[in-house]
Amino acid sequence: MIDFTFTEEQELFRKAAREFAETKVAPHVAEMEKTGEVSDKVVKAMAEAEMMALTIPEEYDGLGLGYTTRMIAVEEVARVSVAAAMMLQVFALGIEPILKFGNEEQKKKYLPGLAKGEHLSTTAITESTGGSNPAGGRTNYKKDGDDYIINGRKIFITNSHIADVITILAKDAENPKVFSTFIVENKMEGFKATHKEHKVGMRGCNTGELSFENLRVPKEQLLSEEGKGIRVAMAAIGDAGRGGMVGIAIGLQAACLEASVKFAKERILYGKPISELQLIQSKLAEMKIDLEAGRLLAYRGAAMHDKGVRSSNEFAVAKYFTTEMAQKAAKMAVDIHGGYGCMEEYAVTRFLRDSFVLGPSAGTSDIMKVIIARWVLS
Ligand SMILES: Cc1cc2nc3c(=O)[nH]c(=O)nc-3n(C[C@H](O)[C@H](O)[C@H](O)COP(=O)(O)OP(=O)(O)OC[C@H]3O[C@@H](n4cnc5c(N)ncnc54)[C@H](O)[C@@H]3O)c2cc1C
Repeated sequence: MIDFTFTEEQELFRKAAREFAETKVAPHVAEMEKTGEVSDKVVKAMAEAEMMALTIPEEYDGLGLGYTTRMIAVEEVARVSVAAAMMLQVFALGIEPILKFGNEEQKKKYLPGLAKGEHLSTTAITESTGGSNPAGGRTNYKKDGDDYIINGRKIFITNSHIADVITILAKDAENPKVFSTFIVENKMEGFKATHKEHKVGMRGCNTGELSFENLRVPKEQLLSEEGKGIRVAMAAIGDAGRGGMVGIAIGLQAACLEASVKFAKERILYGKPISELQLIQSKLAEMKIDLEAGRLLAYRGAAMHDKGVRSSNEFAVAKYFTTEMAQKAAKMAVDIHGGYGCMEEYAVTRFLRDSFVLGPSAGTSDIMKVIIARWVLS
């Protein structure tokens, strides 16, 4: 039995995270939507508030607070800005392979700077030939003395143009069944951040392509061992990737519900607020039920992870449910707003666009079902 009640520290942290999101992130949302980038001011404020340090152990200058606290941070930031939460969530995804599989030198070299927010991270797995199937990727490496030479291209990478420490998956050019993971730096010769995407939602964060042209990487940058690449990548995505997306999805659901309650109380029809109409109440009740159920799944996964129990299957259930429910909540929120729900000055239009982008990130709903079915059948 997993006890996942919040400690007093976690409750206090939620208060602080909410205040942080409302004062340091909210003022920049409109600008971020326009530029397609997370504001530098938001990134700086996150670093100052030690949001990047949450899951990094104290011995590497982090706070060592675990997944439950991270889930709270991501949920509260997403309640205000899904885009800013995505930047933060993929930052944590980028450092997860170093935390889990890095050797002492690699941890000492990278984690303190990442904890302070002096460096930003991401993870680059997806390619045009391999999204749901990472083994379909073509990015490859060859050994050259003590170095590896990497060639290839990654697509749909969050933080592509702002991350300077990137964990990437590549396969052995001579043995395409052997995959390995490397830590690369954006200043290394042969590394380029190229195309930037214009997404339908989650516009205020940067998603783009990375290209590696004879990128020379010393052997010290290999994570774990050669041949363990898929395991390293999947371990990071299964927990940190899905867990983060779940935090974003419940934050977005909360935002949809709050905006709907506010509007329903203010909008007068037939001489009374529409919150008194039972069909409006029915939608609000459904949104609340979905949010509460999603929160239980989300924090169960986080609590399991914090207790050292494998939680990737539970996070697959949570990812499927919460991202599907976020889309449903956003659609209901738009519906409750009537015609106003089609006007850009109402945040619910952003919520609807953002909700559609949650699905593919860290694995589509179909892939979650594939994982869940495998779990059930095993
Ligand atoms: C906003 C955003 C941010 C992202 N950030 C990152 C990042 O930082 N790093 C990174 O590496 N990647 C990132 N991704 C990529 C993401 O992980 C992929 O988009 C996702 O894994 C799906 O891959 P795909 O887009 O190639 O779709 P495909 O794999 O081509 O899927 C197409 C369709 O086929 C279905 N399908 C595939 N396989 C199966 C199956 N076995 N059974 C049933 N149906 C199946 C899918 O569900 C989908 O409906 C991001 C994506 C988005 C949208």
